[in-house]
Amino acid sequence: MIILKLGGSVLTKKDSNHAEVNYKNLNRIATEIHNFFLVKDSNHDFADGLIIVHGAGSFGHPYAQKYQIGKPFKREEYGEKRIGFSKTQNSVNKLNTIICECLISKKIPCVSIQPSSFITTNNKRINTFNLNLIVKYLDEGFVPVIYGDVVLDTKLKVAVLSGDQILQYIAKNLKSRKINEIILGTDVDGVFTKNPKKHNNAKLIRKVSSLEDIEVLDSTTNIDVTGGMIGKIKELLELADLGIESKIINANKEGLIANALLNKKVKCSLITKNK
Ligand code: ADP
Repeated sequence: MIILKLGGSVLTKKDSNHAEVNYKNLNRIATEIHNFFLVKDSNHDFADGLIIVHGAGSFGHPYAQKYQIGKPFKREEYGEKRIGFSKTQNSVNKLNTIICECLISKKIPCVSIQPSSFITTNNKRINTFNLNLIVKYLDEGFVPVIYGDVVLDTKLKVAVLSGDQILQYIAKNLKSRKINEIILGTDVDGVFTKNPKKHNNAKLIRKVSSLEDIEVLDSTTNIDVTGGMIGKIKELLELADLGIESKIINANKEGLIANALLNKKVKCSLITKNK
């Protein structure tokens, strides 16, 4: 079975400070997934199983940032925080609905799985997450579509749960299935020595086995310069420690998702402990 993560940077206009879908990418990627199924099984019997995880992009980050979801707060601020939670949850849910509508229009039998309705975290790490229903949907040939969301947190009351952490948790805990591939589509070719959008001399790292491969901090300010990338790699290195490899590919480039799904060779970074 395959777990495919579609980054918020690909499905939304992530730099926008209001929620905006990248319909061009969404339609193309849905077609690539549809074509993969046509190749895989002309009877549309999705026996191998696919789980799609997607990020929140501009549907989540502006609210989560504005309301500082996941940051400690004073009791009297809880009212405002709750509204921030509601707005974020509602917004990422809308993105998920749009994505599922598009997948359904390409005859992909997807089912939306809403994290905030059954997952909780403890200090931002997944605490409760029952995978039974996802397994049942997979058994019936559905494609579960789960996404970055806000959830209840036992320490912080509310927290942001990234699609990357969800992917890691599923890959680690879905014992009843053999995972053949984990593919993460983002808006750059993979993991670079430094941010490729800011540095022309950044080099693509074909195999990432440690955080030391990457320049994480700005040497002058000591600030994390990787944005979401470092969090992603940390999750994937946890899987690599268990012998589960994953690929980071550029989903902005036509055909790469299709080829990666078919396990064809694609330009990527492989997150692995096998150097
Ligand atoms: P997504 O929304 O697709 O999950 P993120 O926006 O969280 O992805 O992370 C991808 C972004 O990380 C890229 O657009 C890139 O600008 C940034 N980035 C920072 N440092 C690096 C690095 N060393 N290698 C690759 N990308 C990096």
